[in-house]
Amino acid sequence: DRAPIKRALISVSDKTGLIEAAKTLAEMGVELVSTGGTRAAIADAGLAVKDISELTGFPEMMDGRVKTLHPIVHGGLLSVRDAPEHAKAMAEHGIGGIDLVYVNLYPFEATVAKGGDFETCVENIDIGGPAMIRSAAKNHGYVCVCTELADVQEVLDALKADGTTDLALRKRLAARAYARTAAYDAAISTWFAKSLGDEAPRRRAFAGALVQTMRYGENPHQSASFYREENPRIGVATARQLQGKALSYNNIADTDAAIELVAEFDPKAGAAVAIIKHANPCGVALGGDLKTAYERALQCDPVSAFGGIVAVNQRLTADAAREMIKIFTEVVVAPEADEEAIALFAKKKDLRLLITGGMPDATAKGDLFKQVAGGFLVQSRDNSRLTPADLKIVTKRQPTDTEVRDMLFAFTVAKHVKSNAIVFAKDGQTAGIGAGQMNRRDSARIAAIRAAEAAETAGLPVSLAQGSACASEAFFPFADGLIQAAEAGATAVIQPGGSIRDAEVIAAADEAGVTMAFTGVRVFRH
Ligand code: 5GP
Repeated sequence: DRAPIKRALISVSDKTGLIEAAKTLAEMGVELVSTGGTRAAIADAGLAVKDISELTGFPEMMDGRVKTLHPIVHGGLLSVRDAPEHAKAMAEHGIGGIDLVYVNLYPFEATVAKGGDFETCVENIDIGGPAMIRSAAKNHGYVCVCTELADVQEVLDALKADGTTDLALRKRLAARAYARTAAYDAAISTWFAKSLGDEAPRRRAFAGALVQTMRYGENPHQSASFYREENPRIGVATARQLQGKALSYNNIADTDAAIELVAEFDPKAGAAVAIIKHANPCGVALGGDLKTAYERALQCDPVSAFGGIVAVNQRLTADAAREMIKIFTEVVVAPEADEEAIALFAKKKDLRLLITGGMPDATAKGDLFKQVAGGFLVQSRDNSRLTPADLKIVTKRQPTDTEVRDMLFAFTVAKHVKSNAIVFAKDGQTAGIGAGQMNRRDSARIAAIRAAEAAETAGLPVSLAQGSACASEAFFPFADGLIQAAEAGATAVIQPGGSIRDAEVIAAADEAGVTMAFTGVRVFRH
């Protein structure tokens, strides 16, 4: 398993510690071969070193794009030393073995970090370096591959004993080397995709930094941890926790759902509050101020709101905080918070307060991952956004301006409700939400029950759904769901349309005297 090192090829952009290492290798009788700049540095230190051009008979060319891409180099790296066929090919073509490669790559990541322009970044994509690293790592049976100074140090230490390295070390080095080239290519593809306006490339290596290991996962018998991506978008991953116990797995998932929902609503246009339970909103409302918006969100379903997660789209005020601490809430997440609001929360030891430092961009591009057994699905995030101009009115009755606003609000909330989703909304307040049922009629039925109960609790004579807009996140396949909505009190319905029975559904809407808009966009959520 032991292999000697007779010849080393060194080609490094970062020349830190280079001379020291080269000197030690030379003292051990290792022949040094190098590329332009590296060779010059070693020769300047008074050490004997061959230029790679002497081996290949080719000059370095095309601004250094082609230096070491040659069969003499890769044959020397890849040849299986004790295979007769390989030995024959080496003799025939004058290829000498290379037993150690020390390569660190063009500083691509640093060039991007410094804000290099497109052309500069492209020129900093190393080609020959990764090729040599991969060749040497593949042939770890005979070759040592080093991609950083620490690797060289490790090899030098091993050599001190008897001038050879063992297979275990060479395998470890090979594994590290492929991790380096994989990370390098991941950095290139991420940068490239971003330059095209994609937030992240379709296919990429998972890259994240461990933020927290939780006591358990979704359930106590599951383990869990939380990772943050490089350059995370604003949201749950950027949140700073000001107080309360450590976040649980479910807290983080629900906080994400909450802040992403309120991010749909422009804080400059007014306050928005969402209360989330098990990843679904149980109340969402807009309001002039946060306190009003919170009260209205709570009114939709005060029973479910207990132990919920509250997200707001504006700086948290003391007025709103005072309302929130009246019931038990697991987490409040806000872009920022007033000192007085923070002080009020400080009295509630079990309440966690999270400050994200801003609002997520709901229209940003990005990728969503979902694991399946043995693989994962990747899709672009649903950054759809509708305006009144996107609505196609398909009924005889035209909507009022208020109905248009409520339809859009209800549909936006429905985008954040697990399918099948039915959302009643009136005056920027959800009136009833039906989530996660296997048929649309049941979701409509549940939403109607919620709206009636909420009115009862609030001591109102009629259901909250009376005169509301009703959103369905996917088309009504039959007229029954729509009829249910109209019977519950909706006067406007918004849905994607596109069912083969659209005509039937439109006729039922006309019959019931409601107005209906098609969005042409479906917003399933699973
Ligand atoms: P030097 O400073 O020795 O002129 O260049 C060292 C750098 O060149 C190293 O980072 C190495 O990875 C890179 N390199 C070596 N061979 C090639 C090649 O054939 N093409 C490109 N693009 N880079 C190479």
